[in-house]
Amino acid sequence: MFSDSGCSNGYYHHQEGGAFPEHNSPRSPHRGRGRRRGRRGRSHDPSDAPAFGASRVADAERREEQKPPPCTDFDMAYFHSYAHLGIHEEMIKDRVRTDTYRAAIMRHQSSIAGKVVVDVGCGTGILSIFCAQAGAKRVYAVDASDIAVQANEVVKANNLSDTVIVLHGRVEDVEIDEEVDVIISEWMGYMLLYESMLGSVITARDRWLKPGGLILPSNATLYMAPVTHSDRYSDSIDFWRNVYGIDMSAMLPLAKQCAFEEPCIETISGENVLTWPHVVKHVDCYTVTLGELESVTTRYKFKSMMRAPLHGFAFWFDVEFNGPAISPANNHVSSSFIESSNNQSADVSQRKKRANPSEALVLSTAPEDPPTHWQQTMVFFYDPIDLEQDQLIDGSLTLTQSRENRRFMNIHLEYTSGGRSFVKESVMR
Ligand code: SAH
Repeated sequence: MFSDSGCSNGYYHHQEGGAFPEHNSPRSPHRGRGRRRGRRGRSHDPSDAPAFGASRVADAERREEQKPPPCTDFDMAYFHSYAHLGIHEEMIKDRVRTDTYRAAIMRHQSSIAGKVVVDVGCGTGILSIFCAQAGAKRVYAVDASDIAVQANEVVKANNLSDTVIVLHGRVEDVEIDEEVDVIISEWMGYMLLYESMLGSVITARDRWLKPGGLILPSNATLYMAPVTHSDRYSDSIDFWRNVYGIDMSAMLPLAKQCAFEEPCIETISGENVLTWPHVVKHVDCYTVTLGELESVTTRYKFKSMMRAPLHGFAFWFDVEFNGPAISPANNHVSSSFIESSNNQSADVSQRKKRANPSEALVLSTAPEDPPTHWQQTMVFFYDPIDLEQDQLIDGSLTLTQSRENRRFMNIHLEYTSGGRSFVKESVMR
């Protein structure tokens, strides 16, 4: 069955110059591969009947207490950006991502076969179909973007309409008239939290997941580390010192602003990283709350392992695919890891744990791991800081959902080294 239950405040109105500018849809890097945004969305009457009739009374009461957040114009533009096929093509062609999800589904086959699954943000329907292949009894494939229309066609063409039920609407608004055993979702944005899609997974969990149900991925960790990247700096900045023999150094302030005002999505290598990473935020998908994600603050302290110019910080994340039973123990390990994240032995033991293939399946976007479409997120300084070996860099980082548009992220970075302190504010939009 295909349902078009839509967004509660009519999100199909086209948003001129919407939330995600032309060059910058939610998974499209700020530099390099631009992604076209295009078609105008269909107009839709939100009073259309929902897919699955009236939900149970208890459900209605629960929702009465927790009204879904309104679907803003920014959300509408966000969903509109996901109607473009190119963004899905890029994600599906990211084999590290897609193969790890498929492997995770197959590894948890015993928890999926014969069970009810909800796919939060199904896109083309690929993860829903993997779950159907793993033997799921029913999969609710939910997406608010018009890509859901295509997902439904794909489901039909694969003779899976009896198993995969595409619901075209927000997870916050659609009706599913039963509890589910499994939630699967590929919700991670750049720097993990950009896009704020995890909130929708939390909503799905609190609306439908049975006690003891499975969430894939089960937990996620955002890391940061100081980096040196002289080639990148020269390419964007020193370039202006001599342009066809002309001294264009007058451009330097503008060049620095244009190149480094906003975070950059690009690939670095492990060699750019000056020391062990710091855990910015660990998220247990079974327990994380919406409030926890509004603002994340961490204090960090690094000791450079080499003498090099410090050009900024790199951010990356990983997600793990554990069952619910393993998660609390993991949670314990991870929280002590956070508390002692500047203790290098804790980092090493964490890495060893993850290197063991009999343990959790990990999707990593770290610089030393195979590249993914998320690459790494870089926050460059306007001017490098020359570091000696063992020199300390300390400070704090606050990531806040933008008040103007919760899909955007404000980044407040404070750093001190060699007795000089700096603050860098940027917005990921
Ligand atoms: N699961 C697919 C697509 C992942 S991209 C895959 O793995 O290839 C994330 C998708 O989630 C997008 O298609 C977006 O439109 C959808 N999405 C994000 N927030 C949502 C919400 N609150 N309700 C429904 N769909 C949402």
